[in-house]
Amino acid sequence: MTVGEDEVPWSINVSRRIAPGDALIFSTPDEDHVHGFGELEGWAHFSLRIQAERIFRADCFVTNRATLDPEDAQRGRGAGIRFQPILLSGSPVSPENLIGAGAFARGLHYGGLITPGWYRLSVECDACRKDFQLQSFHAGMMDVDYMYSDSGLHTLIIDPGEGSGYPRIDGLTDEARRAFEARLPRAPDETAFRYYNALRCPHCRAPFFDYAKFPEDRRTDYYGHSRFGVAETVWTWTDPAGPAEPARSEPERPGQLDPERVFAARNNPRINYVGVGAVALLSLLGFILAGVIPTESTRNYGAYPLLGWSWIAVSALLIAILLRRARDPRSQLEISALGLWVRGTTPALIPWEEITGTSLYGLPRGGCVLRVALRNPAILQRTAVTSGFAALEGKVSGGDFGINPRLWDRSLDEIVEAIAFFRPGLAPIE
Ligand SMILES: [Zn+2]
Repeated sequence: MTVGEDEVPWSINVSRRIAPGDALIFSTPDEDHVHGFGELEGWAHFSLRIQAERIFRADCFVTNRATLDPEDAQRGRGAGIRFQPILLSGSPVSPENLIGAGAFARGLHYGGLITPGWYRLSVECDACRKDFQLQSFHAGMMDVDYMYSDSGLHTLIIDPGEGSGYPRIDGLTDEARRAFEARLPRAPDETAFRYYNALRCPHCRAPFFDYAKFPEDRRTDYYGHSRFGVAETVWTWTDPAGPAEPARSEPERPGQLDPERVFAARNNPRINYVGVGAVALLSLLGFILAGVIPTESTRNYGAYPLLGWSWIAVSALLIAILLRRARDPRSQLEISALGLWVRGTTPALIPWEEITGTSLYGLPRGGCVLRVALRNPAILQRTAVTSGFAALEGKVSGGDFGINPRLWDRSLDEIVEAIAFFRPGLAPIE
């Protein structure tokens, strides 16, 4: 289709069948911009816009149906691509000024709006003009840092770890930053990760996000990127000066517990990541309501931007919480020779002497909680909210609390075995 100068601003939602090897060609009077769809095939539902500022923007959602069914979006039967915006002649920014610029400067992300993880980015090399696809992640929301390798082809995700003292890398002196970088692992191609390294074109290796040229963009690009389909290297920071965390080796099974050891249950990352996926799919509904993803309904009756974007904001918050939980390596429950501790429920470790017994309670909708009865219930110092949850979770009275390991990496059976190991008399009787 062709758009004339006098039709700007212009926007359209169209659906086209695509097959592997197909490409989208945006032709301007000066040049062609060619973007492949990668491995995607089926029906591409495009949202195409030319803004009054003479910037062309395009997104698409690929499904296996000719019309965009909201249910496809909700159930994740599809994949999204955001194409790199194209500056047309007459736009306030000259394309030359964006050569090597960061992700926000290029319009790949919008400030204040989260780019969903299921959107891949299709970008175009400034040097060889070939397209390639990137996966982005919101480093700010994940509470991580990222760096690119000297080769520009690999991405490192730095987890600040448990302790305090993790430095703000952009605030370090050059010398301190180099010392920090010297501790990092190597990329799969044996090149080093550095803060101001560029992400490079996989075809010709020209810098794409050229942070040596645009150091200010490095500080504001709170999205990291990796080549689509290439896994990032993940590294957890520890304080080089601090005392080494005593390595606590977990027994595989409580049956192998030794009395010096601590049985711990942690968040199960898989369950939380499944939750992230579910929320991300639900957030699609927000994009449909907001009209970002075109549907028959929004075409005919208009979009609901306020509702849509609110939905997206709530989804983003939920995803942040779930990601934090998935990445939280701390134990949620600990059982040892000394007693029992549950994060957020018990104020401190409860000595075995304070526990009068445990019992299993079936939940109304399946599953089970372990009810722990206390000699002196006042030690829990419950708030109205936590006692409300406690009541919901197992109909336990104010003097007891329930342990529900549903989202942990240890089963209720394992927890019961651990209690039986340390205090056989306190294990629930079947
Ligand atoms: Zn290139």
